[in-house]
Formats: sequence, C-alpha cells, structure tokens
Amino acid sequence: MQPNWIKQRAYLTPNRIGLRFGGESWTFQQLHEEALYKARQLAKFVGRGERVAIFAPSTPELIKVIYGCMHLQLEMVLLNGRLSTEELAYQIEDAQVAMVLAAASDVHKLPQNIEVMTFEQLIETEAIEINIATEWQDNQTISIMYTSGTTGFPKGVRQTVQNHSMSAISSALNLGITEQDVWLCTVPIFHISGFSILMRSLLYGATVCLYEKFDEQACVQEIVAGRVTTISLVSVMLERVLSEMERLQVQAHPNFKTVLAGGGSIPVDYLQRAAKVQLPVVQTYGMTETSSQTATLASIDALRKIGSAGKPLFFNEVRIQGTDEPFVEGEICIRGPHVTPGYIGRFAERASTENGWLLTGDIGYLDDEGYLYVVDRRADLIISGGENVYPAEIENALLAHPSVLEAGVCGLMDDKWGQVPIAFVVLKQAVTEAELQAFCHQRLARYKLPKQFYFVDSLPRNGANKLLRRKLIELL
Ligand code: ATP
Ligand code: MG
Repeated sequence: MQPNWIKQRAYLTPNRIGLRFGGESWTFQQLHEEALYKARQLAKFVGRGERVAIFAPSTPELIKVIYGCMHLQLEMVLLNGRLSTEELAYQIEDAQVAMVLAAASDVHKLPQNIEVMTFEQLIETEAIEINIATEWQDNQTISIMYTSGTTGFPKGVRQTVQNHSMSAISSALNLGITEQDVWLCTVPIFHISGFSILMRSLLYGATVCLYEKFDEQACVQEIVAGRVTTISLVSVMLERVLSEMERLQVQAHPNFKTVLAGGGSIPVDYLQRAAKVQLPVVQTYGMTETSSQTATLASIDALRKIGSAGKPLFFNEVRIQGTDEPFVEGEICIRGPHVTPGYIGRFAERASTENGWLLTGDIGYLDDEGYLYVVDRRADLIISGGENVYPAEIENALLAHPSVLEAGVCGLMDDKWGQVPIAFVVLKQAVTEAELQAFCHQRLARYKLPKQFYFVDSLPRNGANKLLRRKLIELL
C-alpha cells in the first residue's frame, strides 16, 4: 500500500511549485485541487480503475488531466502524438479503453469512428461528488505505454505504482534530491522519459518545468540562468544543446546538476564536449518495460567510465545472458521492482520475464568493475563476412566529425559479404564522401567501414526522437 501521491504531496509541501509552464506556475496544492475537480468531472463517464486513452501535447492541461486520472485510479494509455491514424486505431482497439481523452487540437489525427471526449468538453462537464482513494495498491497500473514495435506489433506495457515509485526512489538514491530541484521536461509525456519526470516530481516534491516542444535555445537559457537543475535528453537533443552553448560560448550555471542522457547510446564525443561547457552529463540505460532508468553512470565516474551506462540503480540487477565473465557480450537481462508485471491486450498472455528476468533485446557487456556498456540492439546487428557489426559504433564514429549532424547506419544485402554497412548522414556543413571515409578509416576496423554514404535532409525518427534504423533503407 502507498498513499495517494497527489494528495500526500499536497499535504506535505502544499506551497511548493509543482509545475511551471511559460510564465505560469502551480503549487502542489493547486495541482491537487485542480486534479480533484477533473476526477469529479471524469467520474461522470468512467468508474474507478477503468482504462482511458490520453492523446495531447505537453501542456499544463495534460498534466492536470493525468493527475485527475490518477485520483480516480484510472489506467492511462498514453498515445504517442507522432503515430499514424492506423497505428492509433490499433492501440485504442487493443487496449479496450472505456474512453479517449484528447486535446481538441489533436482530435483530427484520431480515427474517425472513435468517440472522443476533448479536454475542452471535459472542462464544461459538471462535477459530481466522489470519494477519492487515499491509498493505492502497489500492483495498481498507473500507465500503459506501447513499445515502438521494432520487432513486431507494438506491445502495451503496464507500469504500476510499485514500478514508478521504485524507479523514482532508485533514481534519487543515485542522483540525490534537494528542495531546489527543478526538472526540465522537453521530452514527450507519452514516453516514459517524460512521464517518469511527473512521477518523480510527485514523490520528491520537485518542480516540473514543462515545455510543449523541445527548443535548444530555451533549454540553454534555463540551464545558463540556473532556473532548472536537471534535464532529460536523448542524444540528438543533447547535441543541439551543446551546439547552442558552444555558439553562445556559455557555461551551465553552478545550480545546474545533471543532464540525464538516454534513450540510445550517447557518442563519447558529446560527453567530452559537454565537459568543456561545464555541463554534467550522466548516461543512463532505460526502457518502457522498466519504467525508465535501470542503470545510470554516477557523475563521479562520468569521465573515468566514459561511454558506460553505469551500474544498476540500488534495487536493480543486471546480468548478461549466458555469461558471468567480464567483457563478454550478450543479451542484457534485468531484474528489479521497476520491471513491468506484463503486457495488456493481445500480448496479455505473453510473459514479460523469465524467472523474473526481463530479456531486453539489447546487447551489452559488464566490465571488470561491473559497469554496464550497452552495445546496440540485437535486431539491428549487421553480420558482414561473419563479423558482428554494430550500427551504433559506426554512427558514433561519424558523429565525432565536425561536419556531421546526424548519422544512421543499417545493413544492405551483399552477394559477397552477406550484408554490408551503409551510412545516412545529415550534414552541418559541406564535406565530401572521401573525407568521411578517411575519417572512419582512422577509427574503425575495415569491415565496419560504410560501403556507401548517402547525404539526406533528415533521418526517420519516432515520437521520442529516436532513430528508426529499420526505415533507413526506405531513403534509398
Ligand atoms: P521497441 O521496444 O518497441 O522497439 P524502444 O525499445 O525504442 O521501442 P524504449 O523502451 O523507449 O522503446 O527504449 C528503450 C531502448 O532504448 C533500449 O532497449 C535500448 O535499445 C535503447 N537505449 C536506452 N538507453 C540506452 C543507452 N544508454 N545506450 C544504448 N541504448 C539505449
Ligand atoms: Mg524496446
């Protein structure tokens, strides 16, 4: 059992700021009251514990609706704003939701045959009297998020009260918390990277500084002015923040504590650039199935263990399938109270773990001190002439070139080698293919050298701004 977090937070620190957006802010007491009112309005349509889908951009209204749903103990299916109408239809149907709540601005993206209650209609709804639960069960589902479906149909992942709370506590044990903490949220709320910021805010009493969209100029202003202490970023966003700081020749304010960088591998070059502008970056390894971070590199190790995703957080365990030896690569397996109890919908019967261990589909190794290095996704492995080639290694080599803004690598069928790596590059400034080849040659073994370079305007990315390597081939 746990207390209702929203009520408990408002009771403990009513006057602390829980949310900032633009020039406006809300205390935890205000958020609690607004959420309570939303719960009373929602109660006209749904009963406690039912499932709803939510589809909206990152605005204060979304946060209030989410907290309102939590008061009613609804299971929230967070729909990704970048999905196609067919993908949305699949998820709404698979999740069997009682209702779909959406911002009016986004309703046109939803399938037409689905009945939607807009946030605006909800505001007009009469509120009814309800009793909210003062206690929550550990195994109660708070959120459901669909995986991106790289290896098949997207699977709806349950994230429970226990998953979110243990994840938040583990993170705090590693990064620390203070009363001044302000977490800048420019990653999507429909993704675990953003949603977990809300959960930490409630549990820590920290402020969420919310932006509807990522904007490197605004991020840098917040970081330099010392108005935020922590920010979650994926690799491309980090690069844009770094470029902006380098352009303006500014450094992070001493109040600023941590960039939590995850979602994919972070090129070592970025970590070195970050050190130069006094921007403390910790690399983290997390996923939807683990309600955010599993392992994070403590700042003290940031440079000594550069490129590592760190050690597992306190309550978590990591092992490499089939080996206890250091430096041996294999599938990363995870166990801990943050691991999902399972899926919903058509995958409800499929076990998410084996003997309590989640098989991640990611390849990695542990070093002799137990630090985790995530190599790449098993599904993206390129086998060329019998050698294993990991796209991330080639991409990271390319990203160290000053003319390269983004890089994506995939395999192309080849008569002689089976597969060969090819590279797609978005440039910052002009560079020849020969120069990139020579640059890679200095850094990579021969069989890892891309056989072709394609200069493109942008790379295919998903709602979390992650590279979709399986779609690269469509650029040809
Ligand atoms: P899907 O499971 O549908 O393919 P997804 O795995 O991209 O989608 P997420 O759960 O958001 O969706 O992402 C988790 C994945 O991101 C990890 O399994 C891993 O492949 C990658 N990842 C996260 N952090 C890191 C990291 N520090 N280094 C390398 N890869 C990482
Ligand atoms: Mg995954």
